[in-house]
Amino acid sequence: MSVTQLIREAEASHTTRFAFELLPPLKGAGMEELTTNIDRLMPYDPAYITVTYHREVLKERQRADGTIERHVVRRRPGTVGIASAIRQRYGVEVVPHLICGGHSRADIEDALIDMDFLGLHNVLALRGDAFTGEPTFRPHPEGYSHAVDLVRQIAAMNRGEFVDGEVDEGHHTNFSIAVAGYPEMHGDALSAESDLQFLKEKVDAGAEYIITQLFFDNAKFFDFVARCRAIGITVPIIPGLKPLATARQLTILPEIFHCHIPDALRREVEQHATDKRAVRQIGTEWAIAQSRELKDAGVPVLHYYSMGKADNIIRIAEALF
Ligand code: FAD
Repeated sequence: MSVTQLIREAEASHTTRFAFELLPPLKGAGMEELTTNIDRLMPYDPAYITVTYHREVLKERQRADGTIERHVVRRRPGTVGIASAIRQRYGVEVVPHLICGGHSRADIEDALIDMDFLGLHNVLALRGDAFTGEPTFRPHPEGYSHAVDLVRQIAAMNRGEFVDGEVDEGHHTNFSIAVAGYPEMHGDALSAESDLQFLKEKVDAGAEYIITQLFFDNAKFFDFVARCRAIGITVPIIPGLKPLATARQLTILPEIFHCHIPDALRREVEQHATDKRAVRQIGTEWAIAQSRELKDAGVPVLHYYSMGKADNIIRIAEALF
């Protein structure tokens, strides 16, 4: 079933479903740790699981003579394979992420064809971030600068149109497309208004629902939804939540994700900064309170960023689902 349908069903029955994001294992690692985490989260009946996509990174090594050797490597390959393996094993809908970064249109088409063959008909279409060490996002010479073009390619494929201009009158793909939205504005955006207009472009191009960047202040999410609705974005907007897990995240999460940490959360974490377990608990309780309020507001799905660790997500799921 498409995730869009699952979301619509949750909306119609006034329920809130649970969903979470996973990272593919590091290259060379097996599926064991991942499946142990999924085994512990399955009792909470996830509507879907998403699997992140990781572009290549630059790895540097110093040679004996002091010169630097550089390699382009992918640390977490295998998104499509692992998404298919999870779907087969657990019978749950899985949403692989797909990014523009590092890919030509033909690479993207190949990935989509693999996904279609594997029965993966849901996809989260993203631009991806800049390559390691580069200040801004540089598209592949035969690829895309923005996620909207990726959405257009997937929507075209659903109509049977391929990148070489061929049109297939027979089998059509049926991808349900999700895109990212930013309650506190994307870091590269010129203004909140332009960011929202570009989000609308992605929806107009065929995105059926939006998953948001993480946020710690629900007021930012409610305001974002109101601004989306005001400019005619009518698709479901799924809040993305991450329980704060370390005191260091007070600094790094705002830097990476451009999110505001509310003073009350910051103060409490700072008061317990030397007690790792207490900080993790404070972060989890904050996420539980956020989730309760969002559930009461009627969101159809709560989407959790697990960052590969299940224990705090399990605590949240126990409290809510
Ligand atoms: P876009 O929609 O292309 O937006 C990027 C910037 O360009 C924004 O500032 C926007 O305002 C602007 N913009 C958009 N369209 C246009 C246009 N037509 N003309 C001019 N400017 C425009 N990254 C990964 O590498 N792998 C993942 O698996 C991954 N998963 C994610 C999951 C979620 C739910 C979210 C919220 C983010 C995820 N990211 C992931 C991060 C994401 O790739 C970055 O935030 C990236 O910098 C932007 O991606 P986007 O799809 O929002 O890009």
